[in-house]
Amino acid sequence: MPEARRIRDGANRIVSGRALEEDARIEASIRPAHFEDYIGQARVKENLHIAVEAARARGEALDHVLLYGPPGLGKTTLAQILANEMGSVIRISSGPLLEKKGDLTAVLTSLEPRDFLFLDEIHRLQPALEEILYPAMEDFRVDLIIGQGPGARVHPYQLHPFTLIGATTRAGLIMAPLRSRFGIVHRLDFYTPDDLERIITRSARILGIAIDRDGAGEIARRSRGTPRVANRLLRRARDYAEVRARGHITLGVARDALAMLGVDEHGLDDTDRNLMLTIIQKYAGGPVGLNTIAASLSEEEDAIEEIYEPYLMQLGLLDRTQRGRVATALAYKHFGLPFQEAPRKEETRRQTGLF
Ligand code: ADP
Repeated sequence: MPEARRIRDGANRIVSGRALEEDARIEASIRPAHFEDYIGQARVKENLHIAVEAARARGEALDHVLLYGPPGLGKTTLAQILANEMGSVIRISSGPLLEKKGDLTAVLTSLEPRDFLFLDEIHRLQPALEEILYPAMEDFRVDLIIGQGPGARVHPYQLHPFTLIGATTRAGLIMAPLRSRFGIVHRLDFYTPDDLERIITRSARILGIAIDRDGAGEIARRSRGTPRVANRLLRRARDYAEVRARGHITLGVARDALAMLGVDEHGLDDTDRNLMLTIIQKYAGGPVGLNTIAASLSEEEDAIEEIYEPYLMQLGLLDRTQRGRVATALAYKHFGLPFQEAPRKEETRRQTGLF
């Protein structure tokens, strides 16, 4: 049988911010339900808190909210908190789940006053459905088409005031007409190790996991600034501790467990290392195009852009330039390789005639 070349999408990596099947079962029990349990993202939280208080005082629906940032940073969690704080019901759907116009219209017409609709991956909503959202968001109206062919009539239908929470990992793919209809727009940033340590300690308490402060700190530093990864590494460290260390996660146990999982002290795994070494060794440090990297690694471009690169850029190992991806001097240092800036400068000089 000919062996098909498998394109991986990074979805099952232990350090992926995207939800794995194992996460779904656990997340319901540890997901914060109120602002006071939502750790970090202080500026976003404060802004949203004020918006909620004001809307509540006026007895109105909360303005529509767009949240963007890499997967696993807490967008769904925030949407649920907002609905809880407003005493509202939340309906959850996503761009790719809604296939036909009727799917979206049915959801919108079923919303009660001040209900929330959470649309994950809103950048993947089809254009025809996006157009239904415009009057729905602006005037709480949908245009129902009654009948077919030349006799079809447009029947405006008044919706109850509701709040749309859109979430996306790719803000750049949201076009201006949609973006401008959100009154509140916030970007979620990677979390600090201190915030992640608090998230891990909280999850450990809820799940009944014994962990030292140093153990939590070690997992926090290797969690790529992402709560979903932190909670996942915590569970894997617990498995390791149960088998090898009578269930208690100390600094040493955390280190051993994460080493066994192939997650290094900065949270990088084999895929990250391959990606960086491909740029450095195969393409002389770059610039190299995303499609070339994807082909070299047999990985999806989407996964590279959405999951791997944001964290590598945050660490300062990778730059995205107009001409492609470039490994930084820090990346060479990280991998113990001599930095070769000279050839690239030479090339720039030749191309631009500058210097
Ligand atoms: P996203 O929608 O951005 O992919 P989620 O909201 O599903 O991310 O968050 C993933 C998991 O991480 C949640 O189950 C939640 O337990 C945890 N989490 C996210 N943000 C926080 C936070 N600020 N404080 C505590 N836990 C968090």
